[in-house]
Amino acid sequence: MDEPAVGHGFLDVACNVPVDGVFTYRAPEGEPLPLGSKVSVPFGRRTVTGYVVGSRTTPPDGVTARPITRVIDPDPLFDEGYLGLADWVRRMYFASLGETLAAMVPGATRESSIPSLGGDDAPPAPEDLALSREQTAALDRIFDAPGGLFYVHGITGSGKTEVFLQAAERTIADGRSVIYLMPEIALTHQLLDSVRDRFAGVVAVLHSRLTPSQRLTEWRRIRRGEAMLVVGARSAVFAPVPRLGLIVLDEEHDGSYKSGSTPRYHARQVAMKRVAEAGARMVLGSATPSVEAWHLMREGRLVRMNLTERLSGGAMPALEVVDLRSDEEPLSRRLVAALKETHAAGRQSILFLNRRGFAHFFHCRTCGFEMRCRHCSVGLTYHKRRNLMVCHYCGYRIAPVAQCPDCGSFDVGYSGFGTERVEEELASRFPEWRIARVDTDAVRRKGALERTIASFRAGEIDVLLGTQMVAKGLNFPGVKLVGIVLADTGLHMPDFRAAERTFSLIVQVAGRAGRFHPDGHVIVQSYAPENPAIRRAIGHELDAFYADELSVREDLTFPPYARLIRLVLRSRDGEAARAAAESLASMCRHGLSSADQILGPSECPLSVVSGNARHHVLVRTTRFGATHAELSPVLRSASPLRGVHLEIDVDPVSLL
Ligand code: ADP
Ligand code: ZN
Ligand code: ZN
Repeated sequence: MDEPAVGHGFLDVACNVPVDGVFTYRAPEGEPLPLGSKVSVPFGRRTVTGYVVGSRTTPPDGVTARPITRVIDPDPLFDEGYLGLADWVRRMYFASLGETLAAMVPGATRESSIPSLGGDDAPPAPEDLALSREQTAALDRIFDAPGGLFYVHGITGSGKTEVFLQAAERTIADGRSVIYLMPEIALTHQLLDSVRDRFAGVVAVLHSRLTPSQRLTEWRRIRRGEAMLVVGARSAVFAPVPRLGLIVLDEEHDGSYKSGSTPRYHARQVAMKRVAEAGARMVLGSATPSVEAWHLMREGRLVRMNLTERLSGGAMPALEVVDLRSDEEPLSRRLVAALKETHAAGRQSILFLNRRGFAHFFHCRTCGFEMRCRHCSVGLTYHKRRNLMVCHYCGYRIAPVAQCPDCGSFDVGYSGFGTERVEEELASRFPEWRIARVDTDAVRRKGALERTIASFRAGEIDVLLGTQMVAKGLNFPGVKLVGIVLADTGLHMPDFRAAERTFSLIVQVAGRAGRFHPDGHVIVQSYAPENPAIRRAIGHELDAFYADELSVREDLTFPPYARLIRLVLRSRDGEAARAAAESLASMCRHGLSSADQILGPSECPLSVVSGNARHHVLVRTTRFGATHAELSPVLRSASPLRGVHLEIDVDPVSLL
């Protein structure tokens, strides 16, 4: 690819700092540095990294340009066209150009000699499956028009992946590139192996286990046009593919598509922007669409295609709910009986619990004391094997206590079970069974997750117990029983998406059962079985769930009927954070005449994290473009308070 050489003189550099604008530096002697090079430059009294985004023969008036400190990488990471995308991301999410580029391109500095994972010596591609009638109809519809936005709404196990892969093949055959996005957790060996086989030599896989330099090597292959298919998680949406023809967004509902740091972009939104610019197609898919996507389908802005049957001999599993208020926790009599039955039949079980550790609350029965993190407004989790009480937000840890630190009473107790507790319970009830736990504590070592998954698949494990990690993307022929140990873990979060998350998690986890045999069985344990999100999930009543949820959102004028912009102010000095939030809220009230409502300021539900007090202001608007435009000058004129940090979150997925 030809890069415009920028020449000698002065360079405009986008610095990775939260300050708007580009900064001019004196170019180094010698070879001209091309646009897209990575450099380090002096910034105030610090040295920061930045990207060359332009050149000039003289510095802007009144600017004394300092020299560049060092050239980190003279091989360009992007070209001029790519800056257009970066600029859109920067504006949409209120970040600086340098911060935005730093999030978009790989962070490594040196090219490695490690061979790429292109899989050039992979065996020949297997034949495509003969598509079902519904799959064929979906694929035909996607290629009916030269572009467009499509949604494959298919029950779990209905062969969405096959539709995506064949759409990718057709796009590549047309000489155009494909970006295939999926949640990090779904980037399993199983899927990657089959993608590498099928797209041998033309695929680049960007998964989190790549070293930074491997990632850079893949990036360069993509820029050279050698990888026509890029498979990866959220940030792969920024892959610099030439001639983009298709973006696939699998598991569209997944929260991991939203970035948790600046710029807080949503891969779905960036993808929509990219396909619109490129005149490309976008295909989203899920068994449990987000409420926003459901709304877009209802309005016809996403073309909906349904896959209603399981294709590999399975059927939708039978679901039943167990009320934990009148049974034993963490394993109800009903669940224990079903586990025994499944084992006796020589089949396997998966147990799902979205909570790590042994116990979640330490409390004193004498004085009511609760053990909380010193730096965060959350309780500590007891990890029995590590013999520690740990904060899951900041990592703070202390030795467990047998006595109340406040009143000295010995009448203390732990409650609220996690995966470690369930594992112990299983081991003591069924000492002869092979039980494996999969969560971030249990699979710390490299390769441990893959080994466990492989031995479960091979039938060497009877019960697989885990968190999110077992919820998605895994297909195991031998599984008969799926138990959701507690369906309520996210239900009582102070967040308008709590019901949606709970519903989708149950449907997704339940979908692990009965994929290959029609006798799948799912047991859902709950303290609130009458809750509508749980009831609808058990009954697999999708239409009813989305209709109810949309009408609640419409009554409140919440997304998808309005958009939110969340402004979080955090500081070690609680009073400073509160005052800054106060002042920003009042500036918003004056400056955002297009907004429907400015909520707050108020303490965030997670009011302290890592020693930082957090306050937020929530802007709700039905005129997003106007409000977004009005917000820029407000933010520019908000004089930053010392030690107070502002996080701007456009379309937040979490309000905690
Ligand atoms: P989803 O992504 O919808 O949950 P998958 O793509 O994992 O479903 O497909 C479920 C199973 O169905 C897989 O084992 C897949 O190989 C199989 N499958 C997909 N399409 C077909 C087909 N046309 N004929 C037979 N089996 C199929
Ligand atoms: Zn006490
Ligand atoms: Zn903490």
